[in-house]
Amino acid sequence: MHTYPDLQLYVAGEWRRGVEGPVVINPADEKAIGHVPLARRADLDDALTAAEDAYRVWRNWSPRARGEIILKAAALMRERIDEIAHSITLEHGKPFKQAQLEVIRGAEFYEWDAAEGQRTYGRVIPSEPGIRYSVHHQPIGPVAAFSPWNFPMSQPARKIAGALAAGCSVILKAAEETPAGAIHMARAFHDAGLPPGLLNLVFGVPAEISGYLIPHPSIRLVAFTGSTSVGKQLTGLAAQHMKPVLMELGGHAPVIVCSDADPATAGALSAARKARNCGQVCTSPTRFYVHKDIYSAFTQAFVRKAQSITIGNGFDAGIDMGPLANHRRIAAMERLVADAGGKGARLLSGGERLRSPGYFFPVTVLTEVPDDASVMQEEPFGPLAVINPVGSLDEAIEKANKLPFGLAAYGFTNSAQNADRLAGGLEAGNVSINTLEASVAETPFGGVKESGYGREGGQEGLAPYMIVKTVSHKLTV
Ligand code: NAD
Repeated sequence: MHTYPDLQLYVAGEWRRGVEGPVVINPADEKAIGHVPLARRADLDDALTAAEDAYRVWRNWSPRARGEIILKAAALMRERIDEIAHSITLEHGKPFKQAQLEVIRGAEFYEWDAAEGQRTYGRVIPSEPGIRYSVHHQPIGPVAAFSPWNFPMSQPARKIAGALAAGCSVILKAAEETPAGAIHMARAFHDAGLPPGLLNLVFGVPAEISGYLIPHPSIRLVAFTGSTSVGKQLTGLAAQHMKPVLMELGGHAPVIVCSDADPATAGALSAARKARNCGQVCTSPTRFYVHKDIYSAFTQAFVRKAQSITIGNGFDAGIDMGPLANHRRIAAMERLVADAGGKGARLLSGGERLRSPGYFFPVTVLTEVPDDASVMQEEPFGPLAVINPVGSLDEAIEKANKLPFGLAAYGFTNSAQNADRLAGGLEAGNVSINTLEASVAETPFGGVKESGYGREGGQEGLAPYMIVKTVSHKLTV
């Protein structure tokens, strides 16, 4: 039987108690499972010094040697999958099987970036005789990273992996509400022999930590995943100090279902995907624009599947969906459903909190939702889907692109022509057709418009963590 870990900070290669902070709550029963440790100013200063010192050494390690340590840590995470998944289910609520998948996904991010670290090629530019121009990619320096609570392990993994593989050090402020995922990863790196100071893990009052770290001269890059509003604040602060940012922000993913798609399959797949992580995913499918000819069949299939989803404590067998991760999401679901209903939307399924204690809320289906309803503009970040009919693909693409977000967008079609129009016309960093998967280790992931900029994963994933240096070398003086 696994226990929830002792929650500590990890600074300069050592575990520290910090100041006792707020309770960490199990969202399935609302009971306290621990106290998050808060960093003092001295802990931040130690982390900054350690990150700076360690970076000066790590940047000169060979990418292969850096990769070996990262791979060793990832292997330890795989070995400890059940222990880590247990902590994730306790602090976040997701079904244990989904927590195990998250650990595997996190390990994949490390494995991919460890390999990519060995392929950060520069180039030699043809020139006139006597001078050589070459382009080098070098690590940018210590990174301040901020990760959210929806994936306690795989979200911070993205940032630690990119930073370490590129040759940077990192100070990570992980989510206070779900601290254990990041703590398990810091343990794995400690046990894998990562030199002290390369990975530092802190918690605190988020605005105070970011307000101190971002302006600090040691920090060379700000990497954040979270809401667009906080992303804008942090980008503004970084801009004052001319620091680059990697911003992975909110979305409001549209799904276009063309008239040639199979409505039963697309409807069932969509409802199941909506339930993943209780809808608390920045790529979660939310606005469904369904061709009017198959609208009724799609909606029926969606509702049937939504109502078959079993909800409960993530440790119980046969559970498809756990509770929402925190009380704020319950309040948001209730507000969005009431607002849409008041503006004429039809509620076909769900719509009310299930039971208390625990933040349980069913997959909720709203149809014929007017464009001025809050849920049509605000990312629900919960198990809420909106299904509206459309008369043509052009109309659907126009509606899909109307919002300021552009992270993930989806389409269902068996027509190559429609698929091409979706891929070309949807304003999003990631377009997926006939699949609702938008982000895997081997492909670049990130947003356009207010969903942020910079990419994580794929061949592009290390670019934000590196600078481009041009060397012009005249062979004789
Ligand atoms: P939030 O924006 O307050 O917090 C999101 C994360 O950002 C948290 O981990 C928080 O600790 C951190 N944060 C907040 N203020 C910060 C600051 N000044 N400096 C550094 N970090 C800071 O919102 P929330 O209530 O926790 O979540 C609600 C919304 O956040 C959702 O509706 C969703 O849009 C967005 N969100 C997005 C993602 C994503 O993967 N893109 C993940 C989680 C939340």
